[in-house]
Amino acid sequence: MTRSKSWGFPRWGGYGNTRQDAVSVRMCDWEGCNEAGDCPAPKFRDSPEKFWFCQEHAGAYNRNWNYFKGLTQEEAARVMREEMKQARGFRDAGTWRDTSSGVTKEERERNAALDVLGLDGAADPAEIKAAFRDLAKKHHPDANPGDDEAAERFKSVIAAYELLKA
Ligand SMILES: [Zn+2]
Repeated sequence: MTRSKSWGFPRWGGYGNTRQDAVSVRMCDWEGCNEAGDCPAPKFRDSPEKFWFCQEHAGAYNRNWNYFKGLTQEEAARVMREEMKQARGFRDAGTWRDTSSGVTKEERERNAALDVLGLDGAADPAEIKAAFRDLAKKHHPDANPGDDEAAERFKSVIAAYELLKA
């Protein structure tokens, strides 16, 4: 079974061909785009993780995510926590603290990130990745033009995934 695209997880073509061939088969990571993706766009300033977009979508990505892209992973995680309190109608800060007694800060952050992805603590890496893919597609700005709330959720989903991967 072959999928025509793989959002966020670029396909790589056959090594052993010329460099040009290898580049030409990497697809743009933008949802629904079947152009070659030869413009790397770092997900975060200090992250080795990259999206690969066609020129048009690299431009769109930069316009939309300038604000987020400039953040370090740590800053992005902080933004994520703020956004979870606001954008998602999250439990208030009091509950956040009360439910966390006996739980480390890292566990709290992980649990919050899991919550963003609609998962519980038993989620394995494959489930995390699958949930990230679904939610990133669902809330992608390209699928929700002009929807600021979706854009905020999209950022939260990316930040949550970055945190859970770390
Ligand atoms: Zn594209």
